[in-house]
Amino acid sequence: MEAGEHAKQIEQADKEFLWHPFTQMGDWQQEEHLVITEGRDCFIKDVRGRWYLDAVSSLWVNIHGHRKRELDDAIRAQLDNIAHTTMLGLMSPPAVELGQRLVGLLRDSLGADAPAKVFYSDNGSTSVEVALKMAFQYWQHKGEDKRTTFLSLNNAYHGDTIGAVSVGGMDLFHEVYGPLLFKTHKAPSPHCYRCELGLERGSCKMACLLEMEKILKTHASEIAAVIIEPLMQGAGGMLVAPRGYLKGVRELCHRYSVLMIADEVATGFGRTGRMFACEHESVAPDIICLSKGITGGYMPLAATVATREIYEAFLGEFSQLKTFFHGHSYTGNPLGCACALACLDVFEDEDTIGHTRALVESFEGGLGEMALLPHVGDVRQAGMMAGVELVLEKATKEPYALQEKMGWQVAMAARQEGVIFRPLGNTIVLVPPLVISRENLGRMCAVVAGAIEKVTRQ
Ligand code: PMP
Repeated sequence: MEAGEHAKQIEQADKEFLWHPFTQMGDWQQEEHLVITEGRDCFIKDVRGRWYLDAVSSLWVNIHGHRKRELDDAIRAQLDNIAHTTMLGLMSPPAVELGQRLVGLLRDSLGADAPAKVFYSDNGSTSVEVALKMAFQYWQHKGEDKRTTFLSLNNAYHGDTIGAVSVGGMDLFHEVYGPLLFKTHKAPSPHCYRCELGLERGSCKMACLLEMEKILKTHASEIAAVIIEPLMQGAGGMLVAPRGYLKGVRELCHRYSVLMIADEVATGFGRTGRMFACEHESVAPDIICLSKGITGGYMPLAATVATREIYEAFLGEFSQLKTFFHGHSYTGNPLGCACALACLDVFEDEDTIGHTRALVESFEGGLGEMALLPHVGDVRQAGMMAGVELVLEKATKEPYALQEKMGWQVAMAARQEGVIFRPLGNTIVLVPPLVISRENLGRMCAVVAGAIEKVTRQ
């Protein structure tokens, strides 16, 4: 069958049978879409044979590139043993070995106080649900049964399940589900470009931390944990917290005796230039949520890692019902764990973190050029994660209206030049695989800058 014909058939079937995530399906039905059939390194190929640079790392998951031989081989080898076996009552070597590796990695990165007990699930949202339930139940076991809520941030995004949405802070996605959510306390987002408190970066003395402290001062006794995306609030607009903010949150959690949950689903596994974002400020949270890059972007796997102290609060006689009542069919899937082990091997063998750090400056250079464009209001970067916010007017920071879909227009213009990314409203989001070459990174930035110029000039 001719490639064009094949593409049309798949697209038609897609439109008839599927419902896509975060997609207005009415628009989807009217538009043409790419059918991705292959990947290599930082590129993905559509059914018509055109290659595109994967500047979104297939939704912030890919680390070492597509079709990485070591990862492919690890999955094949595990497949020759067993694809899946449950962790409810049984165990498997890859899950055990990965647990040990993750604990070692966290200790190396975050120090002796790092979380050290690994609980698996399947995706970022479930890793957060697990963390919330664990934190809540920990306090129940400690006899503090009034700790039934959480402190989270405005602009936070922790996933799409009901618990994760409850601690989310993005009205655009979350407001409609309001009646289903449990109440949480919300602290201001450390969003320096559009400060909620009307202050300026540099002279604000991180007043947003003081606001968090005010909440803790009056409500700590009812709060199980503070949950935070360390360093960068991702889906909320790629908002980079000022230096010292994360450490400040850690100190507040200590001072007011609430647990700290670090959601490193997006920032973990090298994305910010360190293995974990918490490492940048020498912070060891009580619970850390990991997913996305854990398998290099190959398999759905997540880990919620808690301190031994939390774990030990769940120990007791069977009849005391201190068990952590949570688990999924695919918890600790051996294919995923074998893949994650191979992913960590590649981190070591290829010094992925060293490569990433060497690239960060080039990325900064490319983003710096975009910052000069007349309709770029702010450029935000944490390692290899970046957001470029488009504005109608630079001086007043006036945003483009939502219905203009400026981010999408730029994404479509970049796509024509062979670069794929997914914007967040007016913010261009660039999160290339860590393995990207300097040359491809430069091309990615040049294409995106060109697309911004073209679209905003109109
Ligand atoms: N937490 C953070 C910080 C995320 O960025 C995401 C996904 N973008 C999630 C949780 C949810 O992960 P998943 O989509 O795998 O459920």
